[in-house]
Amino acid sequence: MSIKENIEQINTIKDEVTLKAGRKAGDVLLVAVTKTRTAEEINEAIDAGITDIGENKVQEILDKYDLVKDVRWHMIGHLQTNKVKYIIDKVSLIHSVDSIKLADEIDKRAAQNGIHMDILIQVNAAQEESKFGISTEETEQMIRYILNSCPHINIKGLMCIAPFEDNPDDVRIFFAQVKEQYDRFSTIQHERLNFKYLSMGMSHDFEVAIMEGSNLIRVGTAIFGERNYNI
Ligand SMILES: *Cc1c(COP(=O)(O)O)cnc(C)c1O
Repeated sequence: MSIKENIEQINTIKDEVTLKAGRKAGDVLLVAVTKTRTAEEINEAIDAGITDIGENKVQEILDKYDLVKDVRWHMIGHLQTNKVKYIIDKVSLIHSVDSIKLADEIDKRAAQNGIHMDILIQVNAAQEESKFGISTEETEQMIRYILNSCPHINIKGLMCIAPFEDNPDDVRIFFAQVKEQYDRFSTIQHERLNFKYLSMGMSHDFEVAIMEGSNLIRVGTAIFGERNYNI
């Protein structure tokens, strides 16, 4: 199937599941994950209606930025502090804030650019050693820290990457835990905390994620096919 057909199919499933979850079709934002993809492929996706794309490496954003049509860029991968300066004026949302050091750097660079940066906190409810992200207790501390000390950051919600399971139903509990945290922290009253995005769900688990409350899914393989990292 073509990129366009894949996107149409995912949008259909996404809207069906959203309705099934008792929410309005269109409630869930599809972010096309474009890592390893060429500018041509990305532009094909944009022509097919994609408004938001996600990259997990700073270098790929820089390489493709001028070649890709008008679109919102999301930084979804682990972000090193020394690379924040390269993307601060290019991305509209950083999904992967997982340390105070990184928040401080984003705040500093946003201030220098005269902007406010929208971010999500990357949480790790399953406490997996191999994944970046922080625990529930640390999440609360980080939110408080950012609200107190990072005046150029707006907190827009949470992001997570579920552990990979052959059967996506096995990560349902994980998504449910993150949704619980999302609901809890969304009640914090602060002008720079406006929860809007719960970023969870990828190609193989986005249906379960939406059922459990996700409103932003990050989908690569199901749109563009399997990735080849050797190119
Ligand atoms: C690669 C990636 C995705 C997309 O994964 P697919 O399985 O290709 O849909 C989503 N989120 C993050 C953080 C990623 O790095």
